[in-house]
Amino acid sequence: MDSRKVGVLGGGQLGRMLIESANRLNIQVNILDAAGAPAKQISAHDSHIDGSFKDGEAVRQLAKSCDVVTVEIEHVDTHMLEEISSDVTVEPHWKTLRIIKDKFAQKEYLKGHGVDVAESVDLEGKSEEEFKDVGRKFGYPFMLKSKTEAYDGRGNFVVKREEDVGGARKLFGERPLYAERWADFRMEVAVMVVKTRDGVLTFPTVETVHEDSICKLTYAPPRKVTRETAGKAQELAKKAIAAFEGKGVFGVEMFLLKDETLLVNEIAPRPHNSGHYTIEACPLSQYDAHLRAILDLPIPESGLRLREPAIMLNILGGRAPDSHVKIARQALESPNASIHLYGKGDARPGRKMGHIIVTAPTLSAAEREVQPLIDAVDNQKG
Ligand code: ATP
Ligand code: MG
Ligand code: MG
Repeated sequence: MDSRKVGVLGGGQLGRMLIESANRLNIQVNILDAAGAPAKQISAHDSHIDGSFKDGEAVRQLAKSCDVVTVEIEHVDTHMLEEISSDVTVEPHWKTLRIIKDKFAQKEYLKGHGVDVAESVDLEGKSEEEFKDVGRKFGYPFMLKSKTEAYDGRGNFVVKREEDVGGARKLFGERPLYAERWADFRMEVAVMVVKTRDGVLTFPTVETVHEDSICKLTYAPPRKVTRETAGKAQELAKKAIAAFEGKGVFGVEMFLLKDETLLVNEIAPRPHNSGHYTIEACPLSQYDAHLRAILDLPIPESGLRLREPAIMLNILGGRAPDSHVKIARQALESPNASIHLYGKGDARPGRKMGHIIVTAPTLSAAEREVQPLIDAVDNQKG
């Protein structure tokens, strides 16, 4: 199909699903991550690199081995990517990754481009009194967030009252922080956006359900959302991503407030958990779209449509080390369930070990089929 080689910083589940897509087109993907990483397990060639995507020398070596470098994670050294970008194409652009990896800088940037986000205040290097000023300004609760290295809610703290401020500051130690006004949303939604050399396309709007700040379920289409609101979410997501340089897929997480207005929560410059459903439910998956976008291959817009309603259920590490395997086994009995296990080895409570997609002619049929699996997940919780 294409003799160009793609290099990826990181080889977890997102890199693994990207390789599943690349394999079908016979496109070679070189992974930089530890030996035996999930993505490497399903791709037998000797151009993968064992090492850390945080190691400059390893990143340089990856750059030499391929034509386009992309990421499956935003917590990367963008100075290193800036350096290699004189020799190899980096997608999305390192400038985009630099802005997005700092959640506060990302919010400021979006605001500057007319995209609505939750109101936020920089708290880096600020005193306890200045933290309390935020409580007086925003009221309680408000959300304290680490600007960097945050995922699955590890980096967020709900400040419920003024007395919590001291403890919260200690908890985060030296991490750079900012505060966000509480978003009293009625639902969370997300849109996968595809940025190509020609413009911006979107997958459908999905509803995302988080538990303990980790995505648990996605519903495509969202429940109790009008077509008009779903369309507005796609437009907002497009506007947000059009503001950035570079190509590839981006996940846009949004809050749908009670008055039907939308705020962008955050952006992921890569395939995203809320886009897993596209593998089974859309003609092109988010992984197909990412590969095609970074390689300038055609992406027919109607290939991003929803063929059939779909529900995604994440399988997290549970109480027992093999809880996730038990859930996958139960899903084998479910006729419309597609099961994805990531090959991560040991489960820790809350670690993303796999996911299940149920598609059906109607969302309620999918809901009926997925319910026993949700119950099983709830029973195995760590
Ligand atoms: P991810 O794994 O998606 O990268 P993250 O660790 O970066 O997550 P956020 O997306 O900032 O964390 O927040 C996680 C969840 O916490 C959100 O999906 C939402 O449920 C809740 N949340 C975050 N910010 C706010 C807010 N300002 N008001 C209310 N709830 C919030
Ligand atoms: Mg995040
Ligand atoms: Mg998030």
